[in-house]
Amino acid sequence: MRIKAAVMQKADGMLTRRRIELEEVELDSPYDDEVLIRITACGVCGTDKGAIHGLEPYPTPGVLGHEGAGIVEAVGRDVKSVKPGDRVMIGFPFCGECRTCRRGEMRYCEKGQALSFSGYRLDGSSGMKRLNGEPLAGRFFQQSSWSTHTLALERQLAKVPDGIDLDLCGPYGCSISTGAGTILNELKPLPGSAIAIFGAGNVGLAAVMAARLTGATRIIAIDKVPERLALAREIGATHSLEHGADTIAELKELVGGHLDYSVEATDGSNLVGEAISALGPRGTCAMVGGAKMTATVKYNHPDVLMNGKHIIGVMGGGGQTPTFLQSLMELQRQGRFPLEKLVRFYDLADVNQAVDDSDAGTTIKPILRMPH
Ligand SMILES: [Zn+2]
Ligand SMILES: [Zn+2]
Repeated sequence: MRIKAAVMQKADGMLTRRRIELEEVELDSPYDDEVLIRITACGVCGTDKGAIHGLEPYPTPGVLGHEGAGIVEAVGRDVKSVKPGDRVMIGFPFCGECRTCRRGEMRYCEKGQALSFSGYRLDGSSGMKRLNGEPLAGRFFQQSSWSTHTLALERQLAKVPDGIDLDLCGPYGCSISTGAGTILNELKPLPGSAIAIFGAGNVGLAAVMAARLTGATRIIAIDKVPERLALAREIGATHSLEHGADTIAELKELVGGHLDYSVEATDGSNLVGEAISALGPRGTCAMVGGAKMTATVKYNHPDVLMNGKHIIGVMGGGGQTPTFLQSLMELQRQGRFPLEKLVRFYDLADVNQAVDDSDAGTTIKPILRMPH
């Protein structure tokens, strides 16, 4: 079928910023284990921007978008859990067969890298091409949802219950569950604990909102942009700190040296070393933010050893079961997880503007609405 998609154009040697243009392209029918989805909205996330700015490898021409939500139009022969007309959001892709998947840790699927970043299915096909037949890398996270329609694997879908705003749901598939899942699935802060969140972008603010749902009594947001810190306080941070040379000392003073958890959620600033130093005895630092592929972390060995600190990597918030995603949706509907305060909607045609506004920090979470 013919669809519209935002196509990232072939990389120009002189340009690091890849151009994106709306095109009419051809989409194949779903494989037996796939679903055809009419996308209604899709978020713009740090990983899309990484590809656009040439920081992450993604083939061009290709279609980005990995926070899609929409309505099922058709299903492959083997699909059982959804049917045409169902409202769904598209989560992370996973193979379902590797050792890690079989242990229930799908976010760390051994084929996750290929499924997310190759732009193709594991069999080398893409399902999307230009009208002149030129192949498009059309399987970004096995969804490429900056498009009016796309294909996705049945197993990466979560149904969106009635009464939930479908257009808000795409970001639960990546950035929002990354921040919220780190708190609720991995750190699980004890009542009375202190938690510091480095970076008040969409991931960090999702962590703030999730921390407010726990018994943590000190939730400290750290960023260099005052407006983001104001928003962090509005949605649940008990304290905020403008990042600077004295951040670690200020943090230690604020919590009397007993910082229990730190979450590094910056978009490439790599403050992990600080997030480790600021911890008190037996504290845990969760690394969740973006970083260059070559990034390394410096920490003081005796400090980590003698204080029994924990350092963990958390990919996409860890467990991303449909139940967890639907819980976040319901919490938002109840007004207890105010995702809508982070969001600004754009038409798909304004995708370049949405990326620029996100880069400039004037929009925390852009969501693209599809023309139908
Ligand atoms: Zn797997
Ligand atoms: Zn993402």
